[in-house]
Amino acid sequence: MQRIRILPEHLANQIAAGEVVQRPESVVKELVENAIDAGATSITVVVHEGGLRSIQVVDNGSGMSREDLELSVVRHATSKIARQEDLHAIQTLGFRGEALASIAAVAEVEIATSLDGDAHGWRLYMRPGDSPTAKPSASRVGTSMTVMNLFANVPARRKFLKSALTEFRYISETLQKLAIARPDVRFVLYDGQALVMDVQPEQANKRVCHVMRSIHEEDLLTLEHSEQALWIKGFLGTASASRKNRGGQFLFLNGRSIHSKSLSFAVAQAYELVIPQGHHPVFAIWLDIDPERIDVNIHPQKHEVKFDNERAVFMILQQAVTHVLAKANLVPDLSTFQPLAQAPLQSLPGGMDGHVAFNRLTGEILDSRPHAALGTTTSSPLPGAQRAAATPSTGFHQAYEQLVRDEHGAREAAVLYVDRGLAYCRHEDGLMIIRLYAAAERVLYDKMLQRTEAAAGSSEQLIFPVAVHVDAVSKLVLEEHKQLVSTLGFNVQIEADVCTVNGIPWYVSAGNEEESFRFLLEQLQTVEGLDLDKQMDKMFIKLARRQAGNAVQDVSPSHVQRLVSDLRRCTMSHVSPSGKPTYTVITNDELERRLQ
Ligand code: ADP
Ligand code: MG
Repeated sequence: MQRIRILPEHLANQIAAGEVVQRPESVVKELVENAIDAGATSITVVVHEGGLRSIQVVDNGSGMSREDLELSVVRHATSKIARQEDLHAIQTLGFRGEALASIAAVAEVEIATSLDGDAHGWRLYMRPGDSPTAKPSASRVGTSMTVMNLFANVPARRKFLKSALTEFRYISETLQKLAIARPDVRFVLYDGQALVMDVQPEQANKRVCHVMRSIHEEDLLTLEHSEQALWIKGFLGTASASRKNRGGQFLFLNGRSIHSKSLSFAVAQAYELVIPQGHHPVFAIWLDIDPERIDVNIHPQKHEVKFDNERAVFMILQQAVTHVLAKANLVPDLSTFQPLAQAPLQSLPGGMDGHVAFNRLTGEILDSRPHAALGTTTSSPLPGAQRAAATPSTGFHQAYEQLVRDEHGAREAAVLYVDRGLAYCRHEDGLMIIRLYAAAERVLYDKMLQRTEAAAGSSEQLIFPVAVHVDAVSKLVLEEHKQLVSTLGFNVQIEADVCTVNGIPWYVSAGNEEESFRFLLEQLQTVEGLDLDKQMDKMFIKLARRQAGNAVQDVSPSHVQRLVSDLRRCTMSHVSPSGKPTYTVITNDELERRLQ
């Protein structure tokens, strides 16, 4: 007995429609996207009763021939992709050829269209289940699509809809996104008879203001950056433009509005110190990536997009935003501190290890920390360094006084005192408070990245290699991640159940070789399934976190001062790689206010 039957086409269409058409808003989005794909420069949307009664979208785009019109409502009929390869380089908003067929399965549809220059156009009216037959009609420019009585034939779906008012709100939000995405196109929206929006083709920043209304041009900072085949353009709201909700956040990828929790988070994080908690920044950001490098074929509604290197996009975006905010003086930017003095090299009497040598122009601390495993002692100051009197450390005051004396008022984040893991520093705008742990994490992570970029896999050879016994699983894990382990700077030889550690990365201190190696082994098991770049990144975050624990044990003045100075050289100095703020600044103005 045969039990499997093929569904009648109109039923199959109705089921599939559930994916594409969830509510009137989805219809508007699909129709407007089609108009944009057809090259329209003017699009008018008229909605009645939240779209439940009717939705009409009129465009001045390319129009369709009779054959195309009849095909347009057939499932998987599309003019936008023809071959498998096209899927990897989608330039249009639509490509599945599903929208019109799905809409026609759950509503009455009327389409009037004509090709430019044709003597007359074509008109098609159909109810769910009808086969499409076009009739001649008067000529007009472009296409008009009307969708009536949505879900009248699927009462169960209609029940899920909200009030006409709410449905209209969804529609207008979607139209806002589309209008911001395409400032070169005129968008008009009517709610019944009432004109809700009419924006003429204009510059992108003006469009943002016109759509968001409460924003003025002077509230927007311009963002522009390109790196690694990624182009970023957009506008960032100043602190005063921030809102209590995320309604003012627009992200576009290759012209398509996207939801990306991680990218929105990247931007929000850059704003962390700029706006109060509970507020959300306003922004409109256009990302452009080579379509070959992103996969948009993920979700039927195409909101969610997959990148082939999301972490890199995240970092680049966050840094670009941070840079703009810093330039506008919204984030206290450590890199704007003045150089310490004229002479390029200077050494200061420091803590336990005698001297801190640093480049006065760049603020760079010249790391003279010896690797204890090699048995060397503190190296002498570098050639050209001006030696200050070699006084043993008696506390922060000395280092601080020295700085103040030296700098003739030049500003430096001089450490005043350290208490409970926080360093209190003098700052040009007031008082800067640094969380040492988070700062150490940031500094270590950046150094790990930099040094690995400069010389991946370089490790410091141990004079006395360390033998570590490992179990069978760890051995397998180690074998599997051989490349990663060596890139991270561990030089390891595996024999039977003994691993011989011959070399270690620069940041592992003497006596900690075995422990660090074991930590590495444990952590390796958590990076399964990532590509090498991401594995490295994840490992660096973990290693930096762990090392930071050691780094903050030492609260000697020179050590803390070095940490603070190192922090200011980090591009993302205000946040640790695991996302914690590293410092905050209490401005003089604020202190003034508080003490009034
Ligand atoms: P898709 O957009 O994924 O191709 P649709 O079902 O949305 O699928 O549309 C089917 C086809 O109908 C499109 O590929 C396009 O050729 C044509 N079409 C739809 N809307 C318009 C329009 N407003 N102007 C011109 N052609 C259109
Ligand atoms: Mg479409």
